[in-house]
Amino acid sequence: MTVRTRIAPSPTGDPHVGTAYIALFNLCFARQHGGEFILRIEDTDRVRSTAESEQMILDSLRWLGLEWDEGPDVGGPHGPYRQSERGDIYAEHARKLIESGHAFKCYRTSEELDELRETRKAAGLHLALKPADLALPEEEVARREREGWPHVVRMHVPASGTCVVDDMLRGTIEVDWAQVDAQILLKSDGMPTYHLANVVDDHLMGITHVLRGEEWINSAPKHQLLYEYFGWPMPTLCHMPLLRNPDKSKLSKRKNPTSINYYRRMGFLPQAVTNYLGRMGWSMPDEREKFTLDEMMSHFDVQRVSLGGPVFDLQKLSWLNGLYIREDLDDDAFLKALRDWAFNEAYVRQILPQVRPRVETLSDVMPLAGHFFSGVPAIEEGDFDGVKLGREDLVKLLQFLTWRLETVPAWQKDALLAEVKALAAHFELKMKDFLAPVFIAITGSAASTSVMDAMAILGSDMTRARLRHAIAVLGGVSKKQAKRFEKEYREI
Ligand code: GLU
Repeated sequence: MTVRTRIAPSPTGDPHVGTAYIALFNLCFARQHGGEFILRIEDTDRVRSTAESEQMILDSLRWLGLEWDEGPDVGGPHGPYRQSERGDIYAEHARKLIESGHAFKCYRTSEELDELRETRKAAGLHLALKPADLALPEEEVARREREGWPHVVRMHVPASGTCVVDDMLRGTIEVDWAQVDAQILLKSDGMPTYHLANVVDDHLMGITHVLRGEEWINSAPKHQLLYEYFGWPMPTLCHMPLLRNPDKSKLSKRKNPTSINYYRRMGFLPQAVTNYLGRMGWSMPDEREKFTLDEMMSHFDVQRVSLGGPVFDLQKLSWLNGLYIREDLDDDAFLKALRDWAFNEAYVRQILPQVRPRVETLSDVMPLAGHFFSGVPAIEEGDFDGVKLGREDLVKLLQFLTWRLETVPAWQKDALLAEVKALAAHFELKMKDFLAPVFIAITGSAASTSVMDAMAILGSDMTRARLRHAIAVLGGVSKKQAKRFEKEYREI
């Protein structure tokens, strides 16, 4: 048997470090067994998936040195590797499940579903809806079908009992069937859900081992049942521990930069980031901190993954990155790293329109544009003295903007401007006054290039990291304040 593993990202946002972490472990597992590593794009969420996000994911993983043998861009014998191009395959498989009595069309309306959930709740039952709850009299099904009501396809699940799933790291996992709902497999628009598409593709693509984040453990019983229904062998499962913030909460962009774009922009070396991700819950047999991807592949043993939540610690990553710069880069390599990072034509060209109207000599450029070539600016509380806002309002403004920017789907100046305008109106401030503290947070000074353009060029995670830093410099947000802020924010 050839070992085949995969990474299956959904292209719905910035390329996440968690995706790279899982990709790295899948790649190492495959290589250690002389196997193959596949990249599949799970873009069945047509509203949130974008081509830009897909491209960024491919670019970032490649930047980190994680190469796949088959995928949407390199092709392969099991394509297409984009789920949006495999619709017929899923419809066909859903039909087979209906025919074999393992799935059913469900014509329930969303109001009826709410009512059913309420009834279960009132009876003190788990909220998972079961086939028996959803069933309608035959003639009613026939009527709704005749009248062309929208419907979904759901899978049958046992009403009770225990489901036992094997996991390479965790041994057996037991889940009570009572908690598992009659999962939707095909949505009313005919698109498959993650569960159906994932199982069908893993089977058709010959995947033998699935290493994925532990957030998918609860899906495992449904997947196991689907494999049984289809009569297919199930890949071996391995649920990896989730990356954590230093406070042990799940790594989230609210607290930590999570986009690979940020680490790239910040000037981390790809080999250091990959090395650091390899240290997440795993260690070399001799426990050394610094190792190459090739070394990791040749010493890889999944049993050395420890389940305690690995902490993604920026300071440690910076320390490791420094080691790489000092120990591994000769002058030529250092120069190349600088070029790849920001001293290249494509990046500098973006900055030219920002500095041209504001300089007299070329030597004015660097002091003016330094914030495009730095991480988080060295600012102090006193830098905000000129801003005519009380401390609480100042922090609130920066916090609301940070939250608001988390939700911008396409990071472009127009979209950012719309957010800023909406918030300025909420604070009843003129744009100029609203932007004054933002200016300091982003550019590190009170007068510089356009702050809106700077945010657009710097990207989402770098922008938010700078805003977060400014909030910290201003004394941070207390728990009490956070509660008040969140309430007010929700009401905007
Ligand atoms: N598309 C899922 C994700 O984005 C894949 C999960 C899996 O590996 O099964 O994480």
